[in-house]
Amino acid sequence: MAEPRRIIPFSPPDISEADIKAVTDALRSGWITTGPRTKELEKALASFTEAARVATFSSATMALECALHALGIGPGDEVITSAYTYTASCSCICHVGATPVLCDVAPDSYEMDYEQLASLVTPRTRAIIPVDLGGRMVNYRALFAALDDAASRGAWKPDGRNGIARAAEATVGRPLVIADGAHSLGATYDGKPSGAVGDMTAFSFHAVKNLTTAEGGALAWRRGLFPDDELYQMLMLLSLHGQTKDALAKARVGAWEYDIAFPGYKCNMTDLQAALGLSQLGRYDKLLDRRHAIIAAYEHGLADLPIEAMPHAGHQEGTSFRSSGHLMLTRLSGQGEPFRNRFIEELGALGVASNVHYKPLPLLTAYRNMGFAIEGFPNALAQYENEVTLPLHTCLSDEDVAYVVDAVHTAYRRAEEAR
Ligand SMILES: *Cc1c(COP(=O)(O)O)cnc(C)c1O
Repeated sequence: MAEPRRIIPFSPPDISEADIKAVTDALRSGWITTGPRTKELEKALASFTEAARVATFSSATMALECALHALGIGPGDEVITSAYTYTASCSCICHVGATPVLCDVAPDSYEMDYEQLASLVTPRTRAIIPVDLGGRMVNYRALFAALDDAASRGAWKPDGRNGIARAAEATVGRPLVIADGAHSLGATYDGKPSGAVGDMTAFSFHAVKNLTTAEGGALAWRRGLFPDDELYQMLMLLSLHGQTKDALAKARVGAWEYDIAFPGYKCNMTDLQAALGLSQLGRYDKLLDRRHAIIAAYEHGLADLPIEAMPHAGHQEGTSFRSSGHLMLTRLSGQGEPFRNRFIEELGALGVASNVHYKPLPLLTAYRNMGFAIEGFPNALAQYENEVTLPLHTCLSDEDVAYVVDAVHTAYRRAEEAR
């Protein structure tokens, strides 16, 4: 086969000269670990997401795990998440010793089936982790309604494990919602940004995400729900050994003394990472617009093929949404796994990297070993078998996008011919 005319990587980081300067400035500043830049990033993110507060971490996974810990969730508690997600939405539940409960997606949907979700709620349910897949915020109205319904039927009752959880459960009167917003920074639902909709929202700044700090994450939470200072303090303790003074406070002359409140984790963000995050956040609105322009070009260019793209903007049940344009999730409608895999190979031969988001958790050894069987999640399986994610990132030129559109047509034809 001839060499491809172009190589289109799946999701390279978009690093500008200004980003590089921001990081080298931090390196030269004499303060490289958690410090002023990290605190500035937390404030900037809280303002951007209209959240009460934001705490930063070394990853979204640790943001989720620390959120569960801060709510006192552990052994004997149940936490529900989607079967159609990345392992991190569920491994955090396992790490705190709680019981993961998986919910299938609705037919032809990337979102949990909210009827099934309501039926999975028990008096032990302490939290739900929905996933804003591809950067599109889930149907929070339907999600909250399902949980309200379960609570009003008496399937659930408030039983917060600590003061932080009790305050929030009493306010909302349903299990708490900790959104896996790893993809959804900058998305809106009903005019509200991700970070201001879920009770808590975890963001990822991993290298492949929309906004990167190489590795990193953050937890945002809604206004008026939690004791903000107490929750922030608890998250800071969790992320840094349970130590009562962070490195910056300890570095002040004469302020050496500290205590360890409990044996905490070590998953704080550094100022080098925060410098990169702040620089990226400064141009993030432009990056989001570019992502949406690329999505529009894809939608236009692929309209003649039997390929369904997940909508990234529009209205659903009277509610408007605009995604963060994180992933170009598509489905080769009705084709099945062998065709999908052949299509991905043909795309690869044309130099175009693609991916599958996601292999449902019950197909993975770890979750099979916990007793989850894919037979119980038929909609997740059907969704997965036809899914292909096309490259969507801000290093793509208009010519690159046109090349991918062409390559998709060629690969689709070749996969049909190979059948
Ligand atoms: C990337 C990702 C995570 C984990 O993010 P990290 O920052 O790498 O921990 C969690 N959930 C989803 C859906 C993701 O894609």
